[in-house]
Amino acid sequence: MDLYLATGNAHKAEEFGRMFAKAGLPFRVHSAAELGGMPYVEEITGTFTGNCRLKAEALRRIAPAKSWVLADDSGLCCDALQGGPGVDSAVYAGSKATDAENRAKLLLTMKKAPPHKRGARFECHLLVLGPNMEEQKFVGQCWGRILEAEVGGEGFGYDSLFVPSGFDKTFGELQPQTKDKHSHRAKAFALMVEWFKQSGYRF
Ligand code: IMP
Repeated sequence: MDLYLATGNAHKAEEFGRMFAKAGLPFRVHSAAELGGMPYVEEITGTFTGNCRLKAEALRRIAPAKSWVLADDSGLCCDALQGGPGVDSAVYAGSKATDAENRAKLLLTMKKAPPHKRGARFECHLLVLGPNMEEQKFVGQCWGRILEAEVGGEGFGYDSLFVPSGFDKTFGELQPQTKDKHSHRAKAFALMVEWFKQSGYRF
């Protein structure tokens, strides 16, 4: 079976690629680039799941008929910001903001937040669409806290500001393999793997 990743984010595609390589699922995994690129999707639903569905449906329209598509929508939800930037994580500092600009805005916004208000979670929603529009959704969360300055150069997005619970290093310092075991994406992915295995692939 072929499966196409509905993301134009090379970092996410890389993380998914590593996870699929270990998962033992009978899929040949392809990037959206193989279909000419991820179609532009305006992420207007205001929810992770809604945005996920828009991305999955957009790629479903151009993916081969018998293939599966997998879409992800994720973000950082901070206690001090009542769950923000949440679905707006990628565009927190503006529609064309870079990861560095988003991190700078978060640091500034949370400058006065004391340690007990620096709790946060990464959230990942995954949605798979099958050849007959079979749809399944999986949610993963990773709790932790936001530092007052960046540490580490691994990963992407807010990784260098986020220390996952149970660790004293940021995702920006931890090895990718460690992030692959503990991240929000890894947790949602594990649920998806379990669902596919339980399904017996009788679609
Ligand atoms: P999306 O592509 O609309 O799902 O936006 C996700 C945004 O959330 C990214 O651009 C990052 O800013 C942030 N994000 C999601 N997952 C991660 C992660 O694993 N590490 C760091 N930032 C992340």
